[in-house]
Amino acid sequence: MILLDGKTASQAVKESLQQRVTSLTAAGHKKPHLAAILVGTNGASETYVASKVKNCEEIGFASTLVRLDENVAESVLLAEIDALNNNDDIDGILVQLPLPKQINEQKVIEAISPAKDVDGFHPVSVGKLVQGLNTFIPATPYGVMLMLEHFNIDTKGKHAVVVGRSNIVGRPMSILLSSNTKYGNCTVTICHSHTKNLTEICRQADILVAALGRPEFVTADMVKEGAVVIDVGITRVEDATAKKGYRIKGDVAFAEVAAKAGAITPVPGGVGLMTIAGLLKNTLQAYENRAKILGD
Ligand code: NDP
Repeated sequence: MILLDGKTASQAVKESLQQRVTSLTAAGHKKPHLAAILVGTNGASETYVASKVKNCEEIGFASTLVRLDENVAESVLLAEIDALNNNDDIDGILVQLPLPKQINEQKVIEAISPAKDVDGFHPVSVGKLVQGLNTFIPATPYGVMLMLEHFNIDTKGKHAVVVGRSNIVGRPMSILLSSNTKYGNCTVTICHSHTKNLTEICRQADILVAALGRPEFVTADMVKEGAVVIDVGITRVEDATAKKGYRIKGDVAFAEVAAKAGAITPVPGGVGLMTIAGLLKNTLQAYENRAKILGD
């Protein structure tokens, strides 16, 4: 069994990005600059944003964190996005989801300039992804693709089953795996909460991606011997014996599935780290695209 370790894979991506930034700044260019907007003080969101900012700094990107109050009016958030859209020093913008109830998430996603849409959630980005055009790929499925590339997993002609059809993970994941690319070319089945015979379908998977947000849902009986298992799930499960009062659980029952799988990602230490690598790659891409527009 191969452990698809996100630490080594993300480190390799970050090192290549760091080298690129070093050569850009040595040539007198500005650093790529990511702006993150965090609304409220949700614990998980705080952790994700802090990690994104920290990773930017580690590889030499500039970062700006805009914090807004939990009760902020939608118009204030939209004005903040507009200012960042028009700020030439900012290359990429992300708004950490989920947002409080008073804010229309779709409106916010569509307010971000497609040129700076490093989360890849804007309909323009999604449309380009579907058509196989160069675009920003949502960071988590992008991270999974980078993971497959790092470990040189053979995907051509394989049956991939993706459990989950969200706009940020499952659906773009299914598009990428079915694309005519080196780490695509799978035959893809996408499953959701109305799927019948889920266990039987999962058991047919050469590559199984679990992205449903249900801790340890995928058990050994759902996995084919030798399958590649990608666990996207991250759920905080209360545990009084843990230091923080909770433990992070994936969607896969790791120990029993690892005994059967050919390769598997751990949680934590798997897809989560690759998600950051995907975001950083998108930010450099935005910078390079914009540098051409701005004639840098
Ligand atoms: P959503 O809740 O938006 O989507 C979950 C999907 O799973 C839905 O399509 C839902 O079906 C499906 N689903 C739920 N229950 C079942 C079931 N019993 N059987 C089959 N399908 C089911 O979640 P996200 O896509 O946003 O996230 C999924 C997981 O990935 C979460 O744990 C999240 O925390 C994690 N995540 C991890 C990231 C990382 O960096 N590693 C980044 C983003 C998310 P339906 O559409 O019918 O409701």
